[in-house]
Amino acid sequence: MKEIEENCGVLGIYSDNPVVKKIHLGLHFLQHRGQQYCGIATSNGKEILIQSHKGLVDPTFTREDFEILEGKLGIGHVSLRDRQPMTLHSKLGDFAICFNGNITNSDELIENLKKRGYSFWLNSQVELLSKIIAQEDSFVDGIKEINKKIDGSFSLLILTPEGIIAARDCLGFKPLILGKKDNSYAVSSESRALQNLDIEIERDVKPGEIVLINEKGFKTLELMPSKRTAFCAFEWAYTASVDSVIDGLSVDKARNNMGAMLAKIDKGKLEVDIVAPVPNSGIGHAEGYHLESRLPLKNVFLIDRYGDRSYTQATQEARENMAKRKLSVLNEAVNGKRIVLCDDSIVRGTQIKKKVKELKKAGAKEVHVRIAVPPLMHPCKYGISTRSYDELIGTKMSVDEICEYIGADSLIYNSLENLVKALGKKENELCLYCWNGKKPFEEKQRKLVETE
Ligand code: SF4
Repeated sequence: MKEIEENCGVLGIYSDNPVVKKIHLGLHFLQHRGQQYCGIATSNGKEILIQSHKGLVDPTFTREDFEILEGKLGIGHVSLRDRQPMTLHSKLGDFAICFNGNITNSDELIENLKKRGYSFWLNSQVELLSKIIAQEDSFVDGIKEINKKIDGSFSLLILTPEGIIAARDCLGFKPLILGKKDNSYAVSSESRALQNLDIEIERDVKPGEIVLINEKGFKTLELMPSKRTAFCAFEWAYTASVDSVIDGLSVDKARNNMGAMLAKIDKGKLEVDIVAPVPNSGIGHAEGYHLESRLPLKNVFLIDRYGDRSYTQATQEARENMAKRKLSVLNEAVNGKRIVLCDDSIVRGTQIKKKVKELKKAGAKEVHVRIAVPPLMHPCKYGISTRSYDELIGTKMSVDEICEYIGADSLIYNSLENLVKALGKKENELCLYCWNGKKPFEEKQRKLVETE
């Protein structure tokens, strides 16, 4: 069980035949972005239909749901936080909305709207977005208003009887990608959902872009200006699936680059027998280390194919038990070996500590831990499930102290400079808040309700 979890994934499709089964299958390929809730909304041209469930996509949707969700247009959502999409009857007509991201000033904005006479059912962020949109004269004006008022991130989808409106905040924190095949047009948080539906990748939605998707294809309705971008660097390091391509950069390639950077640091200084990943998040990084160092790449953990339901366990104890079942040590590969163990990040340190202990118990002579990103110093504000400062081991211990705590023979993190270099982007194109605490927002981009 990983200590960081993404909050959400979104998928929208127009097709010239019923769309619900495609959305259902596509959501399965976004399941890693949220496992607590899932939902689908469709439009049959007259009304918006919606079904949502607690749990994973595969077992929860029924034949009855498929019969209810008729129509050629639809959006879907997987979430760690709440049920989406949600619907609203408004002066703009009926619509359904879902999003990936996080709005850090949502409490403040909700209270302000309540003072102005608005009522909320759940006080949720998606509800807030729907109310802001419904105040305006068009969906485009509503999205522009959101972009001005919120401190945070959004990649959102709005389903109307006329089409799907897809929008990305003007800094582009969270990914959003367009695809098409014959008469089908789609938008997704990650390219893997499109690729696995045999939909060809068209392009990323640009930061600040609002796109209409319907039977005519894609139409840019607006491009909100921004002086910079803030692509989430963590998407490439951990969040996104390794088979996705985000903003032109393959996740696999990015992870290989990060691993190669770590191998360069060790070059000529470390004598080991094998390189191994912590599955699954460390696989791409370990491959990169192996390619650069030419050391043999070996699996030292076996993934239990029946143990992947750990996300739905209700308690921490149950999750940890399930995580134990999910990964077991390959004793023969480990015994007597000096190992470089690669992973993407360390949050609290408890998981990597267990891994090191298990390897040593299985006879590993040495375990040298290599981490693809620098120590996490600030909890994410813009989309990943929030951890407190207290939970981040990097805020409490030096690298040497962490190394001792996890029981490793050595510990090296990539530097921030290396991380940026591995992504092949400029520093001011990325969100690096987790590490440097610098908010990519310019204050003037925020305009709170009470200032109006
Ligand atoms: S704070 Fe970290 S995880 Fe959150 S968007 Fe920025 S880089 Fe990504």
